[in-house]
Amino acid sequence: MDTRLPSYDWPELEKGWVWLCGAGPGDPGLLTLHALNALRQADVVIYDALVQVAILDWAPQAEHIYAGKRGGKPSAKQRDISLQLVDLAKTGKRVLRLKGGDPFVFGRGGEEAQTLVQHGVPVRIIPGISAGIGGLAYAGIPVTHRDVNQSVTFVTGHDQSGNATQSLDWHSIAKGSQVIVIYMGMKHISQITASLTDAGRPLSEPVAVVTSATTKDQQVIETTLGTIEADIAKAGLEPPAIICVGKAVRMRDVLNWQAQAEGIPPVNLDPLGRGRPAESA
Ligand code: SAH
Repeated sequence: MDTRLPSYDWPELEKGWVWLCGAGPGDPGLLTLHALNALRQADVVIYDALVQVAILDWAPQAEHIYAGKRGGKPSAKQRDISLQLVDLAKTGKRVLRLKGGDPFVFGRGGEEAQTLVQHGVPVRIIPGISAGIGGLAYAGIPVTHRDVNQSVTFVTGHDQSGNATQSLDWHSIAKGSQVIVIYMGMKHISQITASLTDAGRPLSEPVAVVTSATTKDQQVIETTLGTIEADIAKAGLEPPAIICVGKAVRMRDVLNWQAQAEGIPPVNLDPLGRGRPAESA
C-alpha cells in the first residue's frame, strides 16, 4: 500500500515543539493523517503502553521512548514524563508525544499540555479515535442509536489514587444515562455494578466488555450487570477493556460486522423488536 500523504498543506513539526497526538485504540489504520504526518517528521516519539508498537515503524528515523504506565500502579511519574517532554523540546528536538485513543480523553493529555504551556513550550494537539467510541464500533456497538439513546456518558472506573471513582454521582449517572461507557473499569467492576444496580439499573441490563479493542487480540463478551463479574472471570479477560452498559449492546446482534465478515450471519436483524425498517421515521 502507498502510504505517502496526499498533497495538502501539512503542518511542519518544528524544532522545539511538542505535538500531543492520539494514536487511536490500536489498529494502526485508525491513526489520523495528522498523526502519520507527525510520525514522519519526529526526532523523538514518546509513547504510552496502549500504543501499538507497529505504529512506531512509521517513524524509523526517530528515537522511540517508552513512557508506559498501567492502570492503578503508582504512575511512572506523570510529572517526570511531562518534564521529559519539556526537556526534549528545549534541546531543540521535534517531539511527538503519542498516546492511546484520544489524548484528551482520560489520558492525562490535558495535564501534559498544561505543563508544556507553563514551561513556554509550543504545542499542537492531534485528536485521536477514543477507545470508548472506536473500540465499541469494532465490536459492532454504536454508542448512539436513534432507537436507543439520546445521550451517552463516558466515565472512568478509577480516580487518580487508583480507587473506585468516589467523586462520581453514580445515582445520577444510573438515572440519567441511557448508555454508559466505562474506561478503566475492570479493577473495580464489582463496586461499579453494585453502584449502578443500587441506583435502580436492573440486573438484566445488557453489558458488553471489549478488551484490546481493534487489535488482533480483541475479545468481546456480552453479559448483564448481574453476571458481568463471573463472566469476566470465566472468559479470563484482561485489561485494557471498555465496558458498555445499556441497550446499545443489543445492536450487536445485527451490527457485529467482524463476525459477518467471517461468514457468521447476524443473530437478529431487528434486535430492538421495532418491527419496521431501520430507517423509517
Ligand atoms: N485516551 C484513551 C483512554 C486512556 S485511559 C482513549 O481515548 O481511548 C486507558 C483506558 O482506555 C483503558 O483502561 C481502557 O479502559 C481504555 N482503552 C484504551 N485502549 C483500549 C483498547 N484498545 N481496548 C479496550 N479498552 C481500551
